[in-house]
Amino acid sequence: MLQIFYHDEYDAQTVPDGHRFPMRKYRETGRLLKAMELVGANNPFKRPKPASFEMISLAHDPAYVRAVFDQTVDSQTARRIGFDMTQAVAMRSRLSCMGTYLAAKAALAQGLAANAAGGSHHARYAHGAGFCVFNDVGVAIRALQNTGGIERALVVDCDVHQGDGTADIFQSDERVFTFSLHCENNFPVRKVASSLDIGLDVGVGNEVYLAELQRGLDACFETFQPDIVFYNAGVDPHEDDRLGKLKLTEEGIRKREACVIANVRGRGLPLVCVMGGGYTKDVAKLARLHSMVFEEASKVAAVQD
Ligand SMILES: [Zn+2]
Repeated sequence: MLQIFYHDEYDAQTVPDGHRFPMRKYRETGRLLKAMELVGANNPFKRPKPASFEMISLAHDPAYVRAVFDQTVDSQTARRIGFDMTQAVAMRSRLSCMGTYLAAKAALAQGLAANAAGGSHHARYAHGAGFCVFNDVGVAIRALQNTGGIERALVVDCDVHQGDGTADIFQSDERVFTFSLHCENNFPVRKVASSLDIGLDVGVGNEVYLAELQRGLDACFETFQPDIVFYNAGVDPHEDDRLGKLKLTEEGIRKREACVIANVRGRGLPLVCVMGGGYTKDVAKLARLHSMVFEEASKVAAVQD
């Protein structure tokens, strides 16, 4: 069975409905995963505790981490992030880091696990940006490297926006390979080079997208042998997304999830899935798009049980 990490406080309720970031999607996705019986009495959600200052400081400037914990983030950084930096936002960011870390530990033990949040890939070493406070994948990798759980990690980032924060954190670490498949003419304007970047044209649909994904995955595995793979399953490449500029359909998103999972698990590597971005206005539809990675991962986990 697929272990899914989730906490009601992934939804910082101090971010109002109608904000560009649809914070309600976390609770909505949690509710849907229950309704789909991907979790239940036999396989309940796993609840993370908040990550500590020390743990998050493995991947971020301690002065910035302290400012988030104490709600003393300067106004310029808060503007770059895009939220009021409340206690609830600090808490959701800490919970999300721990959820991704624990999902990675579960993946190392069982092959596959997921966090129903995370993928905050614009958070750089020194500051957050683009709705990302702490880089949960960065924190999880650093924490696992620190405890000797892993040495080498591959990040497959299919959020439609380039994974600049993750690239920034690991730019001088040869043990971490970052692959970003994104829309080139989109946020962030100033990108940080990943180990492999594939920047797609505006308007690309399923066929080209899936071909480029496979090409990228082949290139990753040709040159790099990870101990674990992190997958950012942002659904903002969907055609209805407000910030995406690509044209994937629901079927395209589902094929993408299946493709990444098959490529990684087919090589026998542990895989941890995180949610990433998604800005479709209809939150029920958005939750349905996000649920696909959990559904596809659950199918594979069931076969492996
Ligand atoms: Zn995004």
